Amino acid sequence: MSIYLDSNATTQVHPRVVEAMMPFLTDNWYNPSSGYRAGRSVKEAIGKAREQMAALISASPEEIVFTGCGTESNNMALKSLARSLGRQNTKIVVSEIEHSAVLRPTEAMAAAGYEVERIGTDGEGRLEIAAFEQAVESSRPGFASIMWANNETGVVQPMAEVCETARRAGWAVHTDAIQAVGKVPVRVDEVPVDFLSISGHKFHAPKGVGCLFIGKKSQFQPMIRGGGQEDGRRSGTENVPYIVGLGEAAAIMAEEAENGGLERVESLRNRLEEQLQTGLGDGPNPIKFNGSREHRTGNVAHVSFEGCVAAEMLPMLDERGVQCSAGSACMTGKNQPSHVQKAMGFSDERAFSSLRLSLSIFSTEAEVDEAAEKIVEVVKALN
Ligand code: PLP
Repeated sequence: MSIYLDSNATTQVHPRVVEAMMPFLTDNWYNPSSGYRAGRSVKEAIGKAREQMAALISASPEEIVFTGCGTESNNMALKSLARSLGRQNTKIVVSEIEHSAVLRPTEAMAAAGYEVERIGTDGEGRLEIAAFEQAVESSRPGFASIMWANNETGVVQPMAEVCETARRAGWAVHTDAIQAVGKVPVRVDEVPVDFLSISGHKFHAPKGVGCLFIGKKSQFQPMIRGGGQEDGRRSGTENVPYIVGLGEAAAIMAEEAENGGLERVESLRNRLEEQLQTGLGDGPNPIKFNGSREHRTGNVAHVSFEGCVAAEMLPMLDERGVQCSAGSACMTGKNQPSHVQKAMGFSDERAFSSLRLSLSIFSTEAEVDEAAEKIVEVVKALN
C-alpha cells in the first residue's frame, strides 16, 4: 500500500467528481452552444459549475472564466494586465517565490521592455511587505502578482495588505491562489483582488481544468479569441465534463470547510510533525520545520532533515511506500536549491535536505503514523 503525501503536486479525483462528470462523457455529449434542448441542458450544467466555483471564493458567477489549467489562468491574467497598460513606463511587481507559471511570463515581459521587480520574503517565507510597499509606485502605471499561498511551504501571504497598497497606488492585483483554494478561506469579497487563478487538480478535480476570477470592474483583454465562448473571454468549445467536475470539486471543498474537514487535515499535519519531532528531535540529526507556523495552509509540513539529502531520501521512502517530494527543485533534474528556500535565506545544504509532505482530505491517521515511522527510519539509516 502506498501513502500519498504529495497533495500539493496533485490530488486524487474525488469519486463524486467522477460521478458528476460521467453523464457528460456519455449521454450528454452535446455542444453547449447548440440551440436545441440537449445543447441547452449542457449549457445549464456549465452554469451550475460556474455558480459552484464562484460560491467557493464568494465571487459572482459571471466573474468566473473556465480555463485549461492554472498555468493558463496565470498567463491570461498577466498578459491581459500587461497589454492593457502597455510597456511605456509600466512596472510589474511579483514575489521571488512565485511559481514558474508567474515567473516565466513576467521574465518574458521584462525581456520585452517592462520593468519587473521581484520582492523577497522573510525567513518564514512571507513577503517583505515594506519592500513591496516601496516597489509599488503610485506615479507609474503598474500591477502586482503575489501568490496567495506558496506551493512548497504552504505559507500564506499577506494578501489584504498587498491589495490595500496596490489600491492606494491605483494598481491592479493578480494572485495565484492555486495552492490556497480549498485549503484556507479565499474570499474575493473581503480581499479585493482583480484577478485570481485556480487549478482544479489541486482540490480533487482532474488535471487540465482551471478558472480565472476576473473582478467585475477589472479590464480584461482575451488571450484566446475565436467563437466567443465564456463571454468572449476565453474562446474554444468548453471542456464540459471537466468544467462540471471542477464545479463539483468546488462544492465538495465548500462542504469540507463547513464540516470541519480542513481542521481534520490540519490536525493530521500537526500529528505528523509531532511524530517526526518525537522520533528525531533529540537525535544527532535535528529537524527544522520551515515557514511561518501561524500563516500557512493546514495541509503542508515542510521539514529540513539536517545531515540528509532529500534526493537520497525520496527513493528510499518510495521503496517503503511513501510518496512525497523534495522541498527543492533538484528533483526536476536541475540540481539547484529551491528558489523559495533561497528567498527564505536558507543555505544550500538546508534547502537540499528538505521534504514537502502535503496531505489532503483523503489522508488518514494510520497513513500519517506509518509515514512518520518510515521517515524516521530513513533518516536514521542515512546517518
Ligand atoms: N501555480 C502554483 C502555485 C502551482 O502550485 C501550480 C501547480 O503546481 C501551478 C501554478 C500550475 O497549475 P497547473 O498545473 O494547473 O497548470
